[in-house]
Amino acid sequence: HQKLKPPHVVIVPTPGLGHLIPLVELAQRLVIHHNFTVTFFIPNDGSQLLPQKKVLETLPQAISYAFLPQVNLDDLPHDVASETKIVLTLTRSLSALRDSVKLLAESTRVVALVVDIFGWEAFDVANEFNVLFYYFFSTNAMGLWFLFELPKLDETTSCEYRDLPEPVHLPGCVPLHGSDFVQHVQERSNEAYRATVKMSKWYRSAAGIIVNSFADLEPGALEAYKEQRQVLGLPPLYPVGPVVVKTGMADVLGENECLSWLNSQPEGSVLFVSFGSGGTLSSEQMNELAMGLEMSGVRFLWVVRSPNETSTSAAYFGDQGSNDPSSFLPRGFLERTKELGLVVPSWAPQVQILSHRSTGGFLTHCGWNSILESVVHGVPLIAWPLYAEQKMNAVLLSEDIKVAWRVKMNDRGIVESRDIEKYARDLIEGDDGKLLKKKMMELKKAAKVALSQDGSSTKSLADVAELWNGYKN
Ligand code: UDP
Repeated sequence: HQKLKPPHVVIVPTPGLGHLIPLVELAQRLVIHHNFTVTFFIPNDGSQLLPQKKVLETLPQAISYAFLPQVNLDDLPHDVASETKIVLTLTRSLSALRDSVKLLAESTRVVALVVDIFGWEAFDVANEFNVLFYYFFSTNAMGLWFLFELPKLDETTSCEYRDLPEPVHLPGCVPLHGSDFVQHVQERSNEAYRATVKMSKWYRSAAGIIVNSFADLEPGALEAYKEQRQVLGLPPLYPVGPVVVKTGMADVLGENECLSWLNSQPEGSVLFVSFGSGGTLSSEQMNELAMGLEMSGVRFLWVVRSPNETSTSAAYFGDQGSNDPSSFLPRGFLERTKELGLVVPSWAPQVQILSHRSTGGFLTHCGWNSILESVVHGVPLIAWPLYAEQKMNAVLLSEDIKVAWRVKMNDRGIVESRDIEKYARDLIEGDDGKLLKKKMMELKKAAKVALSQDGSSTKSLADVAELWNGYKN
């Protein structure tokens, strides 16, 4: 009898570890706290299979996963936006997804299908099998407001957004300049722009949106959503964050010397420098960063990826470049800084680094997962946004929550070494840095409360679970 079977949830992550990682943690919570079983169906083009597998292998039995057949993206133009590739990977996996869900639904009671930000095309599959369709919006409420307000902006303005004379006021959020809008809306003639404008239409038809934020992190934006949702016809919103992986999981992602090196550094003395799973810098920018770090005299742990001159989007797909830092860092840099810093190629166990007592600050590209991990571990930030919605996140961090300084760029978009030197020194050694740290510690506490037994995020997830549990398809 269908109704008696335990509830099962299907999760479909689109390419990008930043999408998969929080979904994995969400799945764990559904299993541990709400007795669900979960299956991940993973669309892919063959990139990043190994790290994804490493993340998935650690999961308990109640969570299964299957990679959908690899799709081919070779026909796409070379300069196509990553967002377009991400969406197309799912589009081209839809019939495989349909078959997989069909098979699963024959043996289990599938109640919900959860996708991430780019997963709207799976809506028809959910519909076909009478399954509730939910988004896991892996960034913040400000980003969600942006999405819902974009069609209005599209209608009422015609210039490129970076040329808007006034900042935009999203409900409950600090003013936002057009130049800080998400990256793929910066060229209105681009296909990715049109797709983004249409996105909110898809979002409106979802049964609900789970957002990786929490009441005390974005009180304004979340309150505004509560107040305006019905008038605007938006789906219910469930802030369940921070959803971040625990230390144990990060362990499987990188086996290297970072932790033993950190063990021998003084408390709060190290600046962690990393640009997420896909961020890259130009060679010129990398040189400036190297010089700035060296000049600051501050201890650093730097995760480097080989330079990329057109680094306006994530290096998720294809070639990841050379892995030998000495081939692209300034000559002699590694030698001169060997007492001061550690350079790690490509990947490091970030959560463990952020939770380490020696880590005193984080220079980050402002990926939302990185930000939440910093909140959970109380690490103050230098915000250096690169692409996607990172500039918006940097605005939220530096102008609203005030737990970060945003780096200044010169006319050519370069952050100069003398500024980097100052940020690094002030954050790790200065009084202003202590203020940021204090604010971060308050947020850390608030995050803990949100996730405690009676906390707002725990309750939110319980509300979702109850709905799913009671759903009869
Ligand atoms: N991450 C990591 N080691 C690295 C780079 C990234 O463990 O060297 C993890 C990081 O802890 C976070 C995720 O990968 O959980 C990156 O997500 P985020 O949203 O910060 O940025 P994205 O990579 O999606 O741009």
